[in-house]
Amino acid sequence: MYRFEEQTRDRLRELAPSSTVLVPVGSTEQHGPHLPVGTDTTIVTAIAQRAAAAADVPVVVTPTLPYGFAHHHLPFGGTVSLGLVGYLDVLTDIGRSLAVDGFRRIVFLNGHGGNDGAVRSVGDRIVFERELDVHVAGTSYWTCAADALADTDLGVGPVPGHAGGFETSCMLALRPELVRRELMPAPEPDLQPLAYSDIPGATIRRAGVWAASDGRTDDSRHASAETGERALALIAASVAAFLAGFHRSAQ
Ligand SMILES: [Zn+2]
Repeated sequence: MYRFEEQTRDRLRELAPSSTVLVPVGSTEQHGPHLPVGTDTTIVTAIAQRAAAAADVPVVVTPTLPYGFAHHHLPFGGTVSLGLVGYLDVLTDIGRSLAVDGFRRIVFLNGHGGNDGAVRSVGDRIVFERELDVHVAGTSYWTCAADALADTDLGVGPVPGHAGGFETSCMLALRPELVRRELMPAPEPDLQPLAYSDIPGATIRRAGVWAASDGRTDDSRHASAETGERALALIAASVAAFLAGFHRSAQ
């Protein structure tokens, strides 16, 4: 695993043709009363670095993009959001730059739900609209690890959810000093409205649902660093397998 920002331009030129370049994309947004606003960025960075280190193919990891599409979090404060089209432009320019740098295999790994649509679309932009001779994959870590997560009951509520048991567990594993345990919401008898999946088959947006959910999907009563570490290891292993498969498929 190579960190993009630690290499020289000449070293990157050497690495680019034979490597996969991994671009983690996060967000800066409210995460309830007890988690830091950089939670998604912290989690996706850790998953990307662990997966890149575990993959048996050469992977160069860029710095994580700390901003994404998070307009739905703006009313709660602590949020910086890019407009959807502007965000897709940013991802496209990152991909184009990496193609100019000589990389031919580009993976965007997302850690924030609001970015999912743009991350799925950026390959169309780079490969078809810009007609660049590269392979582009865009995925969110929970999509990449969907099979492994479906086979495992972590016992902390929906994955990834938002600012609930899963993300609190991951942050207790990664940056426990940033988790304000004394501000953790009191245990709740039921999931927040946001946690319920909607009618399948479409992406549905409903005004007011975030406000009704207090910006969270579930409480964190079962969160623990052990669960967070288990989840991160599981997800990183799935992403590592994906990176290896993608790398070998893209000649
Ligand atoms: Zn989050």
